[in-house]
Amino acid sequence: MNAFSTPGFPHTLDEQFIDNAWQSGRGEALLEVTNPFEGRVIARVTRGAAEDVDAAVAAARRALPGWRATPEARRGEYLAAIADGLEARRESLVALSSLNNGKPLAEARQDLDDAIACYRYYAEAARALGERQGQHEPGELEGLSVRRYWEPVGVAGLITPWNFPLVSSAWKIAPALAAGCTVVFKPSEVTPLPERVLAEVVLEAGVPAGVFNLLFGDGANVGAALGDHPGVDKLSFTGSNAVGEAVMRAAASGTRPVSLELGGKSPIIVTDDADLDRACELVINGICYNAGQMCSATSRLLVHERISEALFERIDCAMQALRLGDPSAPETDMGPVVSAAQRERIEAFIARAGEAGLESQTTLAPHPANGFFVAPRLYRDVPLESALWREEIFGPLLCARRVTSDDEAVALANDSDFGLAATVVAGSDERGEAIARWLEAGNVWCNTDQIAPPQGSWGGMKRSGIGRELGPAGLEAYLELKRISRSRRWHIR
Ligand code: NAD
Repeated sequence: MNAFSTPGFPHTLDEQFIDNAWQSGRGEALLEVTNPFEGRVIARVTRGAAEDVDAAVAAARRALPGWRATPEARRGEYLAAIADGLEARRESLVALSSLNNGKPLAEARQDLDDAIACYRYYAEAARALGERQGQHEPGELEGLSVRRYWEPVGVAGLITPWNFPLVSSAWKIAPALAAGCTVVFKPSEVTPLPERVLAEVVLEAGVPAGVFNLLFGDGANVGAALGDHPGVDKLSFTGSNAVGEAVMRAAASGTRPVSLELGGKSPIIVTDDADLDRACELVINGICYNAGQMCSATSRLLVHERISEALFERIDCAMQALRLGDPSAPETDMGPVVSAAQRERIEAFIARAGEAGLESQTTLAPHPANGFFVAPRLYRDVPLESALWREEIFGPLLCARRVTSDDEAVALANDSDFGLAATVVAGSDERGEAIARWLEAGNVWCNTDQIAPPQGSWGGMKRSGIGRELGPAGLEAYLELKRISRSRRWHIR
């Protein structure tokens, strides 16, 4: 069934979710939402307006005192109810996410599971936060009693991209609400449909009015206005570096805290004793999952020269064998990229590489004529100074270089502006971890797929961002620590 034919689902989304009600958007124009497989418009969504942001921030500010006074354990119950609501809509949300984003059903299912797990994790974290409130500080000075309290930062402005709808938002919304912040959330205008259902879920969960507000719209009309709004106390952004820097500049006004999850150009190192089949599998997953549209895509392969030819052959075969097609068909391995613009961006990298004399030897996997498909490609011996090697592509283009030692692999891996993630494939986990210790990356996976459990942490070094999401650090990002000190005596001398 076409998820968008779900009875009652509107094709024109000109309303904003503010104060637990769908209010008419103040934006004058509509943006088209496209199904990347068929290239057809499946919805029109409001472009949004600064007045929408004003209304949503005002609602969030009104709701803040009540929400911060709500016991943490109760806030956790609301989060658990959101997780239940998502779970109850599992299959329709999976289909909708796949329809809007173009990702295969299995990947959309994985996304939804990750989002649900995140809401459940922070439901528990909220309860635990309540238990540590007011505890005595370790190592108190004699004659002094110090208690610690963690308070919400305030109104949080949350902005997300299109590559993992429901997941990127869960990583922000769940800890923000657990902390006692109220939120104004702006999803990507490219994939607003799954997030619209999230608003319904939040409403059904009984979350008080104004605690969660969702604004559709583009970056210029809504994103920038949200970043600039003086009523927003904290900004958390996931997306490109260019926009991340604009958000950071906006946060400077008012000296407001900001969390940034930005781009990547992550390495995958394969040592000379690695299992070739396993290495090939991890390489393919690292660059072809979500059609390569991952901030953590391991797009730079550094392989020991002794096994490089054998690995390249396997990768070429595996790329050619991938089944590209209808994301809703169970046999599909890889869907289209998210939009015509994204395909053009990737094709521009292919053209630039060609102009520089760089051609891929990979036989391209066949794919349907319709849709925004880009077949995966391996580029061998890519020059270090090339755009292909340096810049984030956000598509299934893998660049490779041969190395002669682990030290050389580490040096080349770290020779990047980014530091989000890395994978090491080695003959033993010990060797893998020894290499991992030297890599400049927030997450390193040794002999394993890219996993990001809610109790872990996510975020990058260098230009890949500021701060961490998930786990305890993800909650701290929405909390302020307060110490209350008092004398155990009548007066301090
Ligand atoms: P983008 O930066 O173009 O847009 C991200 C969001 O910002 C969208 O909601 C957009 O409407 C909004 N926006 C645009 N202009 C704005 C402005 N001036 N002020 C405030 N908001 C504005 O990114 P994208 O194309 O949606 O996503 C791809 C990028 O996201 C890639 O660079 C990728 O690496 C990055 N990303 C990073 C992570 C991570 O965890 N580090 C995760 C996913 C994606």
